[in-house]
Amino acid sequence: MIQALSILGSTGSIGTQTLDVVDKLGLTVCALTAHSNISLLEEQVRRYKPSLAVVYDEAKAKEFARNIADTDTRVMTGMEGLIAAAQHPDAELVLNSVVGMVGLRPTIAAAEAKKDIALANKETLVAGGNLVTDAVKKNGVKLLPVDSEHSAIFQCIQGMPEHKALKKLILTASGGPFFGRTTEELRDITVEQALKHPNWSMGAKITIDSASMMNKGLEIIEAGRLFEMDCEHIDVVVHRESIIHSLVEFTDNSVLAQLGLPDMRIPIQYAITYPQRYESPVGELDLAKIGSLSFYEPDEKTFRCLAACKKAFAMGGAATAIANGANEEANALFRQGKIKFLEIGELVMGAVDSITNFTPESVDDVLKADALARKYVTDRV
Ligand code: NDP
Ligand code: MG
Repeated sequence: MIQALSILGSTGSIGTQTLDVVDKLGLTVCALTAHSNISLLEEQVRRYKPSLAVVYDEAKAKEFARNIADTDTRVMTGMEGLIAAAQHPDAELVLNSVVGMVGLRPTIAAAEAKKDIALANKETLVAGGNLVTDAVKKNGVKLLPVDSEHSAIFQCIQGMPEHKALKKLILTASGGPFFGRTTEELRDITVEQALKHPNWSMGAKITIDSASMMNKGLEIIEAGRLFEMDCEHIDVVVHRESIIHSLVEFTDNSVLAQLGLPDMRIPIQYAITYPQRYESPVGELDLAKIGSLSFYEPDEKTFRCLAACKKAFAMGGAATAIANGANEEANALFRQGKIKFLEIGELVMGAVDSITNFTPESVDDVLKADALARKYVTDRV
């Protein structure tokens, strides 16, 4: 097992759960990063004593440096700071749990510094595509999924025969708080309603993505990139209980699934300890108590984001960065009360349909596609 890691986005939902796992396993933390939550980051620095702490926001970073001046921790800011955390000389693994495309450069930087990567930050893989997977391959590092569905698939394919024999990936989706509702019923959804997820406690952006089913759309693309499968070989099934975290179907129609209580500390720990398994802070699964598990078809007509992501994935090129960028902008605007819930899907689909697709050759090209998509959205609001 690794002994030392950097955690990007340590003040978030995944970041704090990663620190729970770190406690349980007795690991050392080399670097911690936040955007602006300097009070929590200070608590973490005093407890875990990393040699580097990064506050992305520059003004907050200055304040933070004054607050922790009595410690031995060095403070950095901005993208330069995130990259330094991702390339920390003592880190054997970089767990990336920042939210959004901002995680792209640090992920590639980690691969270039020959660090194994545990990736929660799905936006990076969706927008960056081959640039990320190529950097991982070229540098011979591991890209370990933290997202629960992808961890489930990864666990199911351990011991897979050499010729793979993999026919289909089946991603489960909880369906979020609005499963079964019609477009009419979704017209006046408030931010508060959309922030109430039935099964998982997560950061605000992904909670809205779950309500709009954009999250599942991003996860189809994420799965395609991680496991080299195309859109036609990735299905989604709504499974309200979030007990089965995903399944794989092999050539002989045998289907394997991974089950567990809906607690991210299982996939986080597996990414850290892979290929070993250790006791975890998560409780046992009692199937008799749960009683029954249910499955339904997803509704792509109502949840437009899902259809838009599938379309973008089939188009390839910059289309997935465009879908992601449009959603990052629309999701934030919805949370600020500036657009309605259903507009998120309309804007993501609109951006995919209207912006001329191209093949990104560099990170700058991906950022260009992202900027075009964000502009498409802001121009319409
Ligand atoms: P949170 O919003 O809870 O946390 C995000 C973290 O990233 C925080 O540490 C935040 O700092 C930091 N951050 C935010 N914006 C920036 C920025 N512009 N630059 C640098 N750092 C930034 O998100 P989650 O933990 O819920 O999600 C993190 C990622 O993991 C997302 O990509 C999400 O899709 C994915 N994921 C999350 C799951 C979950 O259960 N939460 C499940 C599967 C995947 P600060 O606190 O200072 O704002
Ligand atoms: Mg997930």
